[in-house]
Amino acid sequence: MTTANFLVKPAVVGGIVVSFDEDRGLSEIFRCHSSGKQEMAMSNLAPATPAATDDAIAGLRALLGDRLSTARSVREQHGKDESYHAPHAPDAVAFVQSTDEVAQVVRLCAAHGVPVIPYGTGTSLEGHVAALKGGVSIDMSQMRRVLRIGAEDLDVTVEAGVTRKQLNAELRSHGLFFPVDPGADASLGGMAATRASGTNAVRYGTMRENVLGLTVVLADGRVIHTGGRARKSAAGYDLTRLFVGSEGTLGVITEVTLRLYGIPEAMSAAVVSFPTIEDAVQTVIQTIQSGIPVARIELLDDMQMRAVNRYSKLAYAEQPTLFFEFHGTERGVVEQAEQVAAIANELGAGDFQWATRAEDRNKLWQARHDAYYAALALRPGAKGWSTDVCVPISRLAECISATKADIGQSRLLAPLVGHVGDGNFHLVFVIDPADEEELERARQLNDRMVMRALALGGTCTGEHGVGYGKIDFLAAEHGEALPVMRAIKQALDPAGLLNPGKILRP
Ligand SMILES: Cc1cc2nc3c(=O)[nH]c(=O)nc-3n(C[C@H](O)[C@H](O)[C@H](O)COP(=O)(O)OP(=O)(O)OC[C@H]3O[C@@H](n4cnc5c(N)ncnc54)[C@H](O)[C@@H]3O)c2cc1C
Repeated sequence: MTTANFLVKPAVVGGIVVSFDEDRGLSEIFRCHSSGKQEMAMSNLAPATPAATDDAIAGLRALLGDRLSTARSVREQHGKDESYHAPHAPDAVAFVQSTDEVAQVVRLCAAHGVPVIPYGTGTSLEGHVAALKGGVSIDMSQMRRVLRIGAEDLDVTVEAGVTRKQLNAELRSHGLFFPVDPGADASLGGMAATRASGTNAVRYGTMRENVLGLTVVLADGRVIHTGGRARKSAAGYDLTRLFVGSEGTLGVITEVTLRLYGIPEAMSAAVVSFPTIEDAVQTVIQTIQSGIPVARIELLDDMQMRAVNRYSKLAYAEQPTLFFEFHGTERGVVEQAEQVAAIANELGAGDFQWATRAEDRNKLWQARHDAYYAALALRPGAKGWSTDVCVPISRLAECISATKADIGQSRLLAPLVGHVGDGNFHLVFVIDPADEEELERARQLNDRMVMRALALGGTCTGEHGVGYGKIDFLAAEHGEALPVMRAIKQALDPAGLLNPGKILRP
C-alpha cells in the first residue's frame, strides 16, 4: 500500500477536495472551486488606495526620475511571465541600480501601504510576477555587475540582475563556470528567488546547494547579509536558504554569492532512444542508483521528440529519448559513457549518437532548452501551461507511467520532458485558454499528477515554484509546517506587501 502521511481521510485543503483510498493510496482529487485560482489568491488582500499609490509613485519619480515608468506597455510586460496564468500589470515599474535604491523604494512603498514585486527577467511559470493587487514592480535588470570573482575560492558575488549566460561569459576566461541552467537566460536573483535548477542539477545541485550568501532588502527597508564565503558555517539559523525559494515574498535579493566549478577537462553528450518510456526511465533509475556521476540526463517522450525535430530541424527517432552529458577527465568521461551504455543496451536502447565538439553539444542542448517553444509550435495559436513535479528516483517509473496513461485518457496535447536524474519531470499542456472545458481537463490532470507525486513521497514542484498557480497544493504537501511558514511571513512582512498572493494565501 502506498502511504501518505499528510492526509488519510477526504478533506478540503485550500479549496480542493482530496480523497484517500486506504488500499490504493492517495487516489483522487477534485477541485471544488471553478472560478480559477487567481481570484482565490487575490481574496483577502487589502489593496492600496489609489491616492496612496499615486503618492508612492510621485515619491518614486522624485527618487528615480525617468527610471520610474508608468507606461502601459512597460507595466503590462512586468505583470506577466511565460505561463498561461492570467497576467496582472503593476501600477508602476522602478528600474533600480543599487541596494541602497532598492531599500529606498521598499521603504517608500511601505510608508504608503503599496505592494512591491521583485522582477528579474520574467521567465517564471506559475504567475510569480503578476501584480495581483497592483503596486510597484522592482526591475533588477540594471543591477548587472559581477562584483567579485574569487577564482581561488571558487566563488563569485554578483548583483541580482546578472543573468546566468552573462555570468558564464565572464567566467570563461578564468576556466570557471556556474552550472545551474533553467533553460531560459534568467537573472541570478530570480533564480535564487525561485530555487531554480535545470539540466545540470543531477551533478551540481540546484540554487539551494549553490548559493553561499545573499544581500537582502527586508520589507521595512533594512539591508541584511546572509551566509558568507566560508564553505560551511554552523552559526545560527540558515537565512540564506530561507530566502532561496521565497519568490520575492520575504525580501528583495540585491546581491548573490555563488559557488563556482572548474570547466571540466572533457565533456561529451549523447542522444539515445528507447522502445518504451518505461525502458528509458529504468535506464535513468539504474544509472543514478549505480552512482555514475552523469552531468545531465534528460528524458523527452515521443511527442516532445516530434516537436523538437520539427522546431529545431533535427531528425532524431520520434521515440522516448534520453539526452546525456558526461563531465570529467578524458578517461573518466569514456568510462561513464560505457557504464551508461551497458545499462541502456540491456533495456533495448538504440544506437548512441555522440556529440563531443562544443558546437555540436551546444546545438543539442539548445534543442533541449527550446523544448517548451517546440511544444507550443505543435499547435499554432495555443498557449503553454508548463507544470512540474518531482519524486524520489525509485518512484519515478510509476509516476511517469501513470501520468502518461492519464494524458492518453484525457485527450490533451501534453508533451513530457524531464530532468529525470533528479526524479523531476514536466508536462507542457498545449491548450486553448479560451476553451474552458479543455482547460478544466488540464487542471484535473495537473491535480492528479501533483497528488500522485505527493503520495509517492514527492513534491508539487521540483523547480518552477509556487507563484499563485500551485498555491492550493502547499497545504497537502506541508500540512502542519504551513502555519510555520505563515508565521515566518508574518514576522518578516507583517503588512503583507512583498509579492502578495504568492506561495501563501494572505
Ligand atoms: C523555456 C523555459 C524553460 C524553463 N526551464 C526551467 C528549468 O529547467 N528549471 C527551472 O528551475 N526553471 C525553469 N524555468 C522557469 C524560470 O526560468 C525560472 O523560474 C527562473 O529562475 C526565473 O528567473 P527570472 O529572473 O526570470 O525571475 P522572474 O520570473 O522575474 O521572477 C520569479 C520570481 O522571483 C522573484 N524575484 C525575481 N528577482 C528577485 C529578486 N532579486 N529578489 C527577490 N525576488 C525576486 C519574483 O518576484 C518572482 O516571484 C523555465 C522557464 C522557461 C520560460
